[in-house]
Amino acid sequence: MSLPAPIGSITPAAREAVVVSLQQLLGDRLSSAAAVRERHGKDASYHPCVPPDAVAFPHSTQEVSEIVKTCARHRVPVVPFGGGTSLEGHVAALRGGVCIDMARMNRILRVNADDLDATVEAGVTLQQFNEHLRDGGLFFSVDPGAAAQATLGGMTATRASGTNTVRYGTMRENVLALTVVLADGRIIHTARRARKSSAGYDLTRLFVGSEGTLGVITEVTVRLFGVPAAMSSATCSFPTVAAAVRTAIRTIQAGVPVARMELANAAVMEAVKQYSKLDLPVAPTLWLDFHGTKAGVAEQAEAVRKIAAAQDGAGFCWTPDPEGRRRMWQARYDAFYALQARYPGTEIWVTDACVPISRLADCITETEEDLAASGLPAAILGHVGDGNFHVTIPLHPAEPQEVAAVERLNGRLVRRALAREGTCTGEHGIGYGKVEFLVAEHGEEAVSVMRALKLALDPDNLMNPGKIVRA
Ligand SMILES: Cc1cc2nc3c(=O)[nH]c(=O)nc-3n(C[C@H](O)[C@H](O)[C@H](O)COP(=O)(O)OP(=O)(O)OC[C@H]3O[C@@H](n4cnc5c(N)ncnc54)[C@H](O)[C@@H]3O)c2cc1C
Repeated sequence: MSLPAPIGSITPAAREAVVVSLQQLLGDRLSSAAAVRERHGKDASYHPCVPPDAVAFPHSTQEVSEIVKTCARHRVPVVPFGGGTSLEGHVAALRGGVCIDMARMNRILRVNADDLDATVEAGVTLQQFNEHLRDGGLFFSVDPGAAAQATLGGMTATRASGTNTVRYGTMRENVLALTVVLADGRIIHTARRARKSSAGYDLTRLFVGSEGTLGVITEVTVRLFGVPAAMSSATCSFPTVAAAVRTAIRTIQAGVPVARMELANAAVMEAVKQYSKLDLPVAPTLWLDFHGTKAGVAEQAEAVRKIAAAQDGAGFCWTPDPEGRRRMWQARYDAFYALQARYPGTEIWVTDACVPISRLADCITETEEDLAASGLPAAILGHVGDGNFHVTIPLHPAEPQEVAAVERLNGRLVRRALAREGTCTGEHGIGYGKVEFLVAEHGEEAVSVMRALKLALDPDNLMNPGKIVRA
């Protein structure tokens, strides 16, 4: 995808003034080194790097506020940065400016076991948080697959979800409250810890999914869950993707409370088999997780086994053994890296769409036919319990014809999802890669309301400009 047209630039004088002021505030926690800037201008996707002018590493909400105020004074853009694992050009500094890397705001402030919630600084990574919770009988449910370096702030800002969503919800359901630095440097708290509230506009939900365009999130309060008494996992392979998806749909419609239900097509399984050296069938595969009591998980597994058998599912393999479960899921988590390794010299284009579950089988089947006709070595992965799936395509970004072919394929995928009352992105967000699809999904009027909200909070369009809506 080509970069959007430039939307104004910073004057050299403004850039110089901001760098001098921020150096006084942060010392060596402000970097203008080329390597640091390059690393912060690119996410985990094929989107080209657009480096910021400088990168700041704050220690506190107060420091974030000072940085944002300084930038606002000189009309210099601000791009918040978490783990850099997003996939739609989210962190590209399209107008330059200062990147605020939240990595050093990584304290877990409190875990309230009695209330099943926790408050963390926005730079806490998913991996760090899970390790902290591991021995306390609690867990944080949102799991964006292999992206363990994603931060709680970044996950909030992209309204992330992932493998556990079918049972536990997305960041939308799991974020209780936020501390946010607004575009003018004011600090707000969006809510208390109460599980519900009717007190005014829901500012928490406004910032969940705002992709750094409305403010910098500095603290996140999230729901936790108790580790279930029993957990088990299963895999099953199918003759076709459609049969696997029908199994997923019937499982949901039968009310089986699966905790995770993931799909990979044969292309993914072939790559994973080579990469992980595992003896896996090269066929469309479902992975499932069951949480509950010992008897409950066995019952759930048996119910899904029967549903899968009716769809010609083969080799249904089920285990409550923790090591066996870990090995089963490793294959799923390796998928992205296996695809990368299989096509050296390429970047992986990952796109996602989500449709109501009853429309999933025909949406994926049509997509498979489209992929086959395109001749591109694409693969399908999905959190199919939510109606969400990804198409991953290895791409040579320097080959314009290849890029154009993938763009056309992506456009067809999005239109297919929208035609089925779905969305152009179930969980990756808009960044600048999907800006054009936002109007197609919501209509001009709704997008103009989004733009009005953006400009009400950020009248000079300084917060991550060029993302979600072009203001
Ligand atoms: C292998 C792989 C698998 C993935 N699987 C999934 C998946 O299953 N589900 C899923 O949802 N996503 C998935 N992703 C995408 C990605 O992990 C998510 O988008 C993640 O939530 C981004 O978090 P981050 O900390 O890396 O944010 P970044 O990439 O650093 O930033 C993302 C956006 O959030 C903004 N932002 C970051 N921090 C803040 C903050 N503190 N305040 C305000 N704005 C902020 C940035 O400006 C940017 O717009 C995957 C990515 C990879 C590479």
